[in-house]
Amino acid sequence: MTALAIQIADIEAAAARLQGVAHRTPVLRSRTADERTGAQVFFKAENHQRMGAFKFRGGYNALAQFTPAQRRTGALAFSSGNHAQAVALSGRLLGIPTVIVMPNDAPAAKLAATRAYQAGQPGSAVVLYDRYTEDRAAIGARIAAERGMTLIPPYDHPHVMAGQGTAALELIDEVGPLDALLVCVGGGGLISGSAVAARARLPGICVVGVEPEAGNDTQQSLARGEIVHIEVPQTIADGAQTQASGQLTFPVIQALVARIVTVSDAQLVRTMQFFAERMKEVVEPTGCLGAAALLEGVEDWRGARVGVILSGGNVDLPRYAGFLAPT
Ligand SMILES: *Cc1c(COP(=O)(O)O)cnc(C)c1O
Repeated sequence: MTALAIQIADIEAAAARLQGVAHRTPVLRSRTADERTGAQVFFKAENHQRMGAFKFRGGYNALAQFTPAQRRTGALAFSSGNHAQAVALSGRLLGIPTVIVMPNDAPAAKLAATRAYQAGQPGSAVVLYDRYTEDRAAIGARIAAERGMTLIPPYDHPHVMAGQGTAALELIDEVGPLDALLVCVGGGGLISGSAVAARARLPGICVVGVEPEAGNDTQQSLARGEIVHIEVPQTIADGAQTQASGQLTFPVIQALVARIVTVSDAQLVRTMQFFAERMKEVVEPTGCLGAAALLEGVEDWRGARVGVILSGGNVDLPRYAGFLAPT
């Protein structure tokens, strides 16, 4: 067996780099959630993270390890939103120029926030593309070659994966033993980092991944024993519209994740409403994946202590309003 891309020491080193830079996000409880699920539920609220999602952790951990030469030429990223903001903000904090390749149908708030983080930074820009007709990897590779920039992928990179794992590490160090940890899955950066952190601290913990029903590529990949590629899935969980897990993330998922389950868009909407109404929390559709599996009864953890990562809270207000009060 070849070694996994990251070890617990990488996540601990990332936590030290993020100390005083990333927020130590709150762990939220809800009596209603506990009653409904019969479990003790601990929500790690990464919707309260800087730029509104856990992605800041991985982006900053990657850029903070650039060499002086890499710092001068800068970082390139392609992303449907939160990774873009993470790299743009990290670049601003570290004085590193960033070019972000984004789909032209990315949520307006994410596009605006990314540009705002880059404002006034020489050499920084957003480049738009059509994700249904153009190949973002090819566009990214061309710009990287032209400007000598370092490509930071949204999930398939050891420094990104290690950074993402710091949220689960904080959760477990704060609340102690957990029987299960529910984590949303796009390309698998968050769950691979989370699984390494969780299984190192609590070897018996059951780490469960949650994907949108329409985009269950990782679930298919686990069943098949190899990475399965799917069409761009149609789901409101825009942070999980990935077509395949990564070459580095998938082996970690295979080794350390118990299973992947799926939830529907309707279940995500009900979960978003639960967070707004009962907990006064704005959680974006993708951020609801883990919680939806538990609150909607896809996962039954009666009598157990369960951690859930709320991965982010970035959602356009008009779109959010539509989810809360469907017409
Ligand atoms: C990126 C993202 C995910 C998925 O993370 P992966 O590391 O790609 O699996 C989940 N939720 C939010 C809010 C995200 O931005």
